[in-house]
Amino acid sequence: MSSRYDGKVVLITGAGSGLGQASALQIAKEGAKLSLVDLNSDSLEETKKLILEAVPNAEVLLVTADVSNEEAVKNYVNQTVETFSRIDAFFNNAGIEGKQNPTEDYGIDEFRKVIGVNLNGVFFGMKYVLEVMKKQGSGSIVNTASVGGIRGVGNQSGYAASKHGVVGLTRNSGIEYGQYGISVKAIAPGAIMTPMVEGSLKQIDPDNWQEVGKQFVEPNPMKRFGKPEEVAYLVAFLLSDQANFINAVVIPIDGGQSYKY
Ligand code: NAD
Repeated sequence: MSSRYDGKVVLITGAGSGLGQASALQIAKEGAKLSLVDLNSDSLEETKKLILEAVPNAEVLLVTADVSNEEAVKNYVNQTVETFSRIDAFFNNAGIEGKQNPTEDYGIDEFRKVIGVNLNGVFFGMKYVLEVMKKQGSGSIVNTASVGGIRGVGNQSGYAASKHGVVGLTRNSGIEYGQYGISVKAIAPGAIMTPMVEGSLKQIDPDNWQEVGKQFVEPNPMKRFGKPEEVAYLVAFLLSDQANFINAVVIPIDGGQSYKY
């Protein structure tokens, strides 16, 4: 039986953990060839292992790269094209949260670092992948924004600025590249239980972070954290040809959080 990813090449950043890893696994199960990028080579190997357990004949390229470094981004795009000849879909997802602090105490270096990964990294990725997709005359990009990219969260100057920026890049490029058959969209996840969110709760109270988590999701209409697999199902749809006419928009996946508070 054919599947929506048969013969497709999908590039994913931040593929060593959380949302990137779950999406890589889901899309591999649907038949794609994968180019997986992360700063952490051990976690990339872990993702590859999970994929091969589920799909023994999967074709997986691993590229260790820091997405905030333009040359490293050029390299991961080039390696993907050299290996698989094309890029059908791009999950531009790697990101960091940064330290939580009110604006006056939010360090300048911290601000630069979070912008460097979350905003510059997403821009570099789009710049070089769009070049490939434009030549192909097709492609889809999903950028990972956040609820923090469509409303304020507090104590997260760098994160909020970077994710609002990702929303801007998405809306802008979607308008530019729709005419070439390329769609560009963003997802805005709410609190999804991944190592990043665990780290965030531990910043608030290292000894009692699970209790902090329960209080954190209490105002959410669904009163729970999202699961990485739930985001993976959305990403797998949005990156497929089935979602080609969804363009230049931001899609929340947050249990209703962004509408309620
Ligand atoms: P995670 O920490 O589990 O995974 C992020 C991955 O990105 C890690 O494997 C990490 O090594 C990699 N990474 C970090 N900096 C990198 C860099 N400079 N270059 C290459 N790789 C790098 O986090 P996650 O929760 O899966 O987050 C994925 C994306 O989703 C991020 O952009 C994050 O901001 C966003 N997001 C997450 C949530 C959530 O609740 N988990 C909510 C909204 C948005």
